[in-house]
Amino acid sequence: MDRVDVTIVGAGVVGLAVARVLARSGREVVVIEKEPGIGRHTSSRNSEVIHAGIYYRPGSRKARLCVAGRHALYRYCEDNEISHRRLGKLLVATRDEEIPILEKLCAQAEQNGVDDLSWLDAAELHALEPTLAGVRALHSPSTGILSSDELMRALRRDAETAGAQFALGTTVLGGRVVEHGIVLSTGGNGAATLLAATVVNAAGPWAPSVARSIQGVPAATIPAAYFAKGHYASLRGRAPFSRLVYPVPVPGGLGVHYTLDLGGQARFGPDVTWVDGVDYSFDESRVAAFYNTIRRYYPALADGDLSPGYTGVRPKIVPAGAPDADFVIQGPAVHGVPGLVNLFGIESPGLTASLALADEVRLLLDL
Ligand SMILES: Cc1cc2nc3c(=O)[nH]c(=O)nc-3n(C[C@H](O)[C@H](O)[C@H](O)COP(=O)(O)OP(=O)(O)OC[C@H]3O[C@@H](n4cnc5c(N)ncnc54)[C@H](O)[C@@H]3O)c2cc1C
Repeated sequence: MDRVDVTIVGAGVVGLAVARVLARSGREVVVIEKEPGIGRHTSSRNSEVIHAGIYYRPGSRKARLCVAGRHALYRYCEDNEISHRRLGKLLVATRDEEIPILEKLCAQAEQNGVDDLSWLDAAELHALEPTLAGVRALHSPSTGILSSDELMRALRRDAETAGAQFALGTTVLGGRVVEHGIVLSTGGNGAATLLAATVVNAAGPWAPSVARSIQGVPAATIPAAYFAKGHYASLRGRAPFSRLVYPVPVPGGLGVHYTLDLGGQARFGPDVTWVDGVDYSFDESRVAAFYNTIRRYYPALADGDLSPGYTGVRPKIVPAGAPDADFVIQGPAVHGVPGLVNLFGIESPGLTASLALADEVRLLLDL
């Protein structure tokens, strides 16, 4: 049986950030990833937005790690020449009844340490973005976009430079807790049985099932997995706004918003469709439903301007209708298994928070 110090399950942005930080603190790290390449799931099927930290309950991990992660991420992007742009974002009330929601978000953001929001009235909004309709808006100058692909490649490079090894095309099939660690069995390219002193379960939407496949992890500590798909539509022609535009949030998501990629291509999304598992099929009938939602803030959207883009699946740990859950990062104090860290429900803002999440895992492992 092979012995390894740290095994990380999953090479999404979180597993990669954890690999980097643990390898740099001198641990021997092996990352096991079932796909033939890194970042093939949630981490490459999202809005690529660096969030400011507006939406999350004060005191929650999401709030704390989003703000800390945003600062760390901008620094990391600058230091590593990762494409990114601090475009800013407008959070728009399209009717007077939505203003109290923005007021609540503004107060919450301040408590979270987001100290640069400003209010715009309808005239100021019009001056900034003439084709945007709204009665009032919050401007967040520190929201931005980045290339998640470049970020993940840089994290992998840093991890490998610090000695981390990657077993791609290798699936963790299950395991058991033993006296000196966790025995994992893997299949695929790197089929083996290995004994790891430390296991970080960063398997994204599959994290609950990976935890359940390890005998000795108390079932009561493992949340159920739920999946909320989001569709994105591409906009034909020139981008109408130069900042990101978000309506007020909806249950399960942030509302069908407007983002730009680094090439200047405009897209709208994601909606919220609850599904039974990770399934990226695109339901084209959803695009028709986008028009009405988007026209509330972009009335000039013409019929036929939207075309199907791509989908992503939010790794939820609470069902439809339940209040959003916080990020769950479980160490031995919760599940009683020495050396095991489980990361559950790492949905948005997990990309923004990735570097801060990695630091949190390092602290939990007392490194
Ligand atoms: C629609 C959508 C929009 C989003 N927008 C944003 C945004 O704009 N800004 C933001 O900050 N966040 C956003 N997020 C959240 C962000 O994308 C995620 O929080 C982040 O990508 C999670 O990364 P991860 O590494 O935990 O998961 P993943 O990227 O899913 O990685 C998990 C990895 O584990 C691997 N794996 C699973 N099981 C096994 C196994 N048994 N053996 C080996 N490998 C395994 C998978 O193949 C996968 O590569 C969005 C998410 C969605 C779905």
